[in-house]
Amino acid sequence: MSRVSRLSHVSATHSTEDLDEVQESKELTPRTTRDGFDRDPDDDKRPSNWTPSTASTGATGTGQYQLTNRGGSVLSKPVINNIYLGDYWNTTAGKTVASQNDAYAKDIEQSSYMGVLAQYGVGKGSFAGSTVVPAATPAKITESDIQSIVKKAIASGTQSSDPQAIHTVILPPGTVLSDSDGDSSTDGLGGYHGSYAGPDGQPVYYAAIVYGQGKNGIDFDGKPSDAISIVESHEWSEAETDPDVNSPIKGKKLGWYNDANGEVGDEALDALPLKSVYGKVDGFAVQKEWSNKDQAFETAPKKAGKTNKGPIFG
Ligand SMILES: [Zn+2]
Repeated sequence: MSRVSRLSHVSATHSTEDLDEVQESKELTPRTTRDGFDRDPDDDKRPSNWTPSTASTGATGTGQYQLTNRGGSVLSKPVINNIYLGDYWNTTAGKTVASQNDAYAKDIEQSSYMGVLAQYGVGKGSFAGSTVVPAATPAKITESDIQSIVKKAIASGTQSSDPQAIHTVILPPGTVLSDSDGDSSTDGLGGYHGSYAGPDGQPVYYAAIVYGQGKNGIDFDGKPSDAISIVESHEWSEAETDPDVNSPIKGKKLGWYNDANGEVGDEALDALPLKSVYGKVDGFAVQKEWSNKDQAFETAPKKAGKTNKGPIFG
């Protein structure tokens, strides 16, 4: 049974020698399968805890990308824990990407990016730290593996025990990720987020992130560090605005959702060409998120009017 919400991308078959052809095929090919509600008929189903939108669940405004809250909770003070899987992350190359990714996690949770999510009740977050799980590079990782890795990391004491922690497992280069619905990172799956019931019966939140490179995961711009941070921004934003999607715990409701497009991060993938779904915040590549308030895909909220000449702090 699915406990996850996926970010996936149906990549076009193309020759890597021909850049024009790559760009053209990205424009013309349906690009996304949407988390929990995608174009593949096999996956065309709603989250297990889906309920219809009502006027009392945050339905302000209209429009095809409008998100409504279905009664679920959000993360008011999210905490990011990074779990790097495999010995690769102890190599010089791996350490470089991991330290940059940790710096990104620390920065983004305090950045203007969180201002886009504030309208959904999400507060600024924090970075609790990271750990490397030693292992030879696994060929494949399943959702059940991800849950086991998180459980072991928590048991080892390396993870924050904060109930709003998002335990984020980052895979090494070449490792193929699959989800419970049979999608694989070799088919364009970039990552997912989900939860399981912890020993106290409360949800433990996690995300799985593919090292997007070439035909594994989503290779946005040829830079794996960008592929990782963009997918993380997608999954963290969704875990923050809709932590309990498909929750195995009775009574846990769906959060912010759009019946046609899915969760907050899924909408840009539906609406924009792949090369336009991301931008930079403080030098880091992040995905644009849908703002009900501004009716736009954003990496920061719109400024409140052009007449605002208030103090500017650098
Ligand atoms: Zn998603």
